[in-house]
Parts: sequence; C-alpha cells; structure tokens
Amino acid sequence: MTRVRFAVYRTVGEARLLAGVLEGAGLSVEVRGESLAPLSGEIPSTETWIELWLWPGDAEAARELVSELEENREAAGQEVSCPRCHEGNPGNFELCWSCGLDLPSTLRPRLRAVS
Ligand SMILES: [Zn+2]
Repeated sequence: MTRVRFAVYRTVGEARLLAGVLEGAGLSVEVRGESLAPLSGEIPSTETWIELWLWPGDAEAARELVSELEENREAAGQEVSCPRCHEGNPGNFELCWSCGLDLPSTLRPRLRAVS
C-alpha cells in the first residue's frame, strides 16, 4: 500500500500544526520535505513545500478533522458575550473564562447572525 499526498503547506509551522492534530486523532502522518526548510525559515517561501502523506484509508477522516479545525479558527475570531457576567469570550470557548459558565452552543457565532 502506498501513501497519498493529503496536503501541501508553505510553512513548517502550519504543516506541523496539522500533522499534530491528525496524529492526535490516531492517524499515521508522514511529513515530507521538512528538511528543505531551515529552522530560521528565512528562505523564499516558494522553495518551501511541506507535504503531508497519509494512508488512503485515513484521508476521509483527515478531511473532516481539517474542516473542524478551520471552523474552530473562524469561531475563535469572533466574540461571544457570557450570558451571566457579560464578559467577551472567544467564539470557540466552551466555558466562560471569567465565571466558568457553560456557554450555550446556541451562542456560538456560526449559529447566529452577526449583530
Ligand atoms: Zn461569564
């Protein structure tokens, strides 16, 4: 069985972040091309291509993880007010950082219109 190329990233940081998420979910990830990038990252970006390779059977699960990750990133960019203490929380928080209240999922940004 051969691996399939799942994704290509221009920065080591992004590639490692995703590889970490996938590995944390139990998928086997092979990172290729990383050795081309010096630790300082000071080379033209066009010469840095980090590839993530997966077993074909893992690609579907990986795609789902990536889309969840992107939704979380979007949600994190928007604020939600805590219904109890009215402090602003990043949209991906499940508990209020200030008072610890369980933030109802109906308050999550992607489920309501931007006010
Ligand atoms: Zn609160």
